[in-house]
Amino acid sequence: MSTKGTLYIISAPSGAGKTSLVSGLLEKDAQVRVSVSHTTRDMRPGEADGVNYNFVTLAQFDALIEQGNFLEYAEVFTNKYGTSRVWVEEQLAQGTDVILEIDWQGAQQVRELVAETVSIFILPPSREELRNRLTGRGQDGQEVIDLRMSEAISEMQHYDEFDYVVINDNFDQALTELQAIFVAQRQRLSKQRDGKRALIADLLSGN
Ligand code: GDP
Ligand code: ADP
Ligand code: 5GP
Repeated sequence: MSTKGTLYIISAPSGAGKTSLVSGLLEKDAQVRVSVSHTTRDMRPGEADGVNYNFVTLAQFDALIEQGNFLEYAEVFTNKYGTSRVWVEEQLAQGTDVILEIDWQGAQQVRELVAETVSIFILPPSREELRNRLTGRGQDGQEVIDLRMSEAISEMQHYDEFDYVVINDNFDQALTELQAIFVAQRQRLSKQRDGKRALIADLLSGN
């Protein structure tokens, strides 16, 4: 896939604070957009179709797979989740940076398809705090929370497949650390925009 923008992958066990951190990042960073996944899971109170996810039935999801609609898809906690291929390709081709909030299985698939990704794993400060956050979010029943807690350990085992790790203990500090990754990535020589190339050429011209 040809990419002018950078593709960021953010993964975390459910409840670690990935969605809150990404919202915080988007408020302060106009150069990046987040991909809205398709999912077969039930809509939570406060979620909206097309905003948090595109909510679809299993039959619709399977049809989208057949049509080659997904860049990646995976089964997570008994539901299916997938990333829209076309939207991501369009954004990257026009130079917009894109964030995928996906699980480790999706992250593995995307790394195979896109040469240069920047991947970030968010960890909670403790298992106890993870459970507190899942409970405190107040959007999932006890059974779902228990399932997500038991899956958290197998999800976290994949932390070392990622380029960066951020521990979300103090929220503001974690957000600052996340922003720093985006700022540093844009300073890479390979990512300097044309404007800066012109400046550098001018600085080096000797006139
Ligand atoms: P939350 O992360 O606790 O808010 O729970 P969600 O139900 O929103 O997401 C559940 C899991 O699905 C998380 O591990 C996400 O990273 C993963 N996920 C969400 N969207 C996608 C996607 O498009 N592709 C893949 N592979 N995973 C996804
Ligand atoms: P995820 O998207 O990873 O499942 P969320 O962003 O939904 O996680 O966060 C889970 C819950 O934890 C939410 O209620 C959120 O407000 C809370 N939360 C996120 N980060 C922190 C933090 N650093 N300290 C305390 N609570 C947090
Ligand atoms: P939730 O249902 O709590 O919103 O998300 C649960 C998990 O599904 C999260 O860990 C999230 O990262 C993952 N997830 C959400 N969308 C996608 C997606 O499009 N692809 C993959 N692979 N995982 C996703």
